[in-house]
Amino acid sequence: MNFQGKVVLVTGGSRGIGRSIAEEFGDCGAAIVINYRENDKAAEDTLQMLKKKGIYAIAIKGDISDYNTAKNIIEEIIKKFGKLDILVNNAGISKIGLFIDMDENDFDSIINTNLKGVFNICHNAVEHMLKVKRGRIINISSIWGEVGASCEVAYSASKGGMNSFTKALGKELAPSGITVNAIQPGVIDTEMNKWLSKDEKQELVNEIPMMRFGEGKDIAKAAVFLASNAASYITSQVITVDGGFI
Ligand code: NDP
Repeated sequence: MNFQGKVVLVTGGSRGIGRSIAEEFGDCGAAIVINYRENDKAAEDTLQMLKKKGIYAIAIKGDISDYNTAKNIIEEIIKKFGKLDILVNNAGISKIGLFIDMDENDFDSIINTNLKGVFNICHNAVEHMLKVKRGRIINISSIWGEVGASCEVAYSASKGGMNSFTKALGKELAPSGITVNAIQPGVIDTEMNKWLSKDEKQELVNEIPMMRFGEGKDIAKAAVFLASNAASYITSQVITVDGGFI
């Protein structure tokens, strides 16, 4: 895969899956913009890792759940590079707990980050992609968006919404040369799952036919494929990468 001269934005690119996606695109020659919300240290570590490999990378801090912040992130990229070729909507949060114990703020923050955040970034990025009639959008969803997870009702709803958003926007933008697809990972070994005990992790692993959690790289490889010329006739799809879990 060769992404020389391409500009890629990875929201939530400072840690976990986003970090692996940024690295994979960087290894293929792209210029990388990572966005994050608050953890400056993680963003700095990721930038250093990318730069050590000779990858051109910058970080833009900002909460994508806020429309104007998302607008500023895209404007900063256009000002600096004059374009945005590939957008990976990866930033996301989760909260585990019984539905009955969830309060309105929990629900709002998950929906506002995982679903409205994708609208906020896409709405501003698509404006520029439409001008050049070219672009790739890849949304990082979750298997729970398809099958639903107990104790993750808001999260499942946000990712289910993201899947429908992907299918609809892909159809609308197809005539304009822009593809929109989603990847729905299974369980990936990141900080998002740090709340699981050793025994709980083992129980989960026992349910996965490939008998292991996924790695960020498993998702990053799929993202790079969807952004490549090899995937030019693929749009509006939600692709599962879960070791056979669902
Ligand atoms: P992590 O918790 O490891 O990293 C989350 C990243 O998103 C961080 O960079 C964080 O920045 C950023 N972020 C969170 N909220 C915002 C916000 N409002 N604005 C900007 N950036 C934000 O998550 P993962 O790598 O595990 O998950 C990445 C994506 O993959 C998520 O969408 C998640 O739902 C999805 N996913 C993960 C799975 C897993 O098992 N890990 C499985 C299926 C899907 P900061 O550190 O500064 O807060």
